[in-house]
Amino acid sequence: MKIYKFGGASVKDAAGVMNVAEVLASQDFENCLLVVSAMGKTTNALEIAVKNYFDKENYQQTLEDIKQAHIAIANGLFNESHDIFSEISLFFDDIISFLRRNKSPNYNFVYDQVVSCGEMISSRISSEYLVSKCFENTWLDARDFIKTDNNFREGAVDWELTGKNIAALSKEKNYVTQGFIGSEENNFTVTLGREGSDYSAAIFAYCLDADHMTIWKDVPGVMTGDPRKFQDVSLLSNISYEEAIEMAYYGASVIHPKTLQPLKQKSIPFFVKSFLEPERPGTQVGNSTKNEETEMK
Ligand code: ASP
Ligand code: MG
Repeated sequence: MKIYKFGGASVKDAAGVMNVAEVLASQDFENCLLVVSAMGKTTNALEIAVKNYFDKENYQQTLEDIKQAHIAIANGLFNESHDIFSEISLFFDDIISFLRRNKSPNYNFVYDQVVSCGEMISSRISSEYLVSKCFENTWLDARDFIKTDNNFREGAVDWELTGKNIAALSKEKNYVTQGFIGSEENNFTVTLGREGSDYSAAIFAYCLDADHMTIWKDVPGVMTGDPRKFQDVSLLSNISYEEAIEMAYYGASVIHPKTLQPLKQKSIPFFVKSFLEPERPGTQVGNSTKNEETEMK
């Protein structure tokens, strides 16, 4: 089983979702579990909707704008009779009726019920698009698998329950699911902290004893510095889990130690690769301490 994670930047528009299919075509799409984030800046936009709701401002308009952005993406991927359009509308109707009925003053609770919809919609669109391109897959609701405590916005994983749930999955299928979200004992949605989709991928990798995990990014791999800030940065082709964890503490890496820990514990090889150049080797993170650098071309 292998785990692929596609972040918000990789599915920010219709071309991005189409490119996911291109990436899969360049690899072998077999026994693969795909974890996807919310599209582009959707999470930020949903955060604003929640804030507007508590500030008694026009949250409906904010939600309408987010809905239209998703419909525009779906328009670029499906013909107008596809069921996905009513599904997208239903997600937003559900958010609005939840907010109208909500009596809870708990900001973090409300946040998680609303903001998680970004991943739900993104994963539904991606799953359906891949099916339409003959990448057969089963869509999973990650909240049925990843169980957490009720610390909304920063859920702590119940590894025992989560492990049991995920172990029930067949390892001979392809799946598409959401990053960032799990659920607590009453099945309310709990998010795992901003940028938590990498962590979700690592949770699935750990519980499935995955052969490897790849995070597809808009950079060639783990770099010696931020290519947007420095000129002479190079790609690290091979680093150890410890080096990756250290880099994260110094702010040099984009991979969170929380994500690296489960992979390190089971020595699951982990790659950071470019979704724009999927054939390039990217960075491999593993047990090796060899630290080869290759010049960026
Ligand atoms: N969509 C969430 C965020 O933007 C989770 C993630 O992208 O990893 O924080
Ligand atoms: Mg994101």
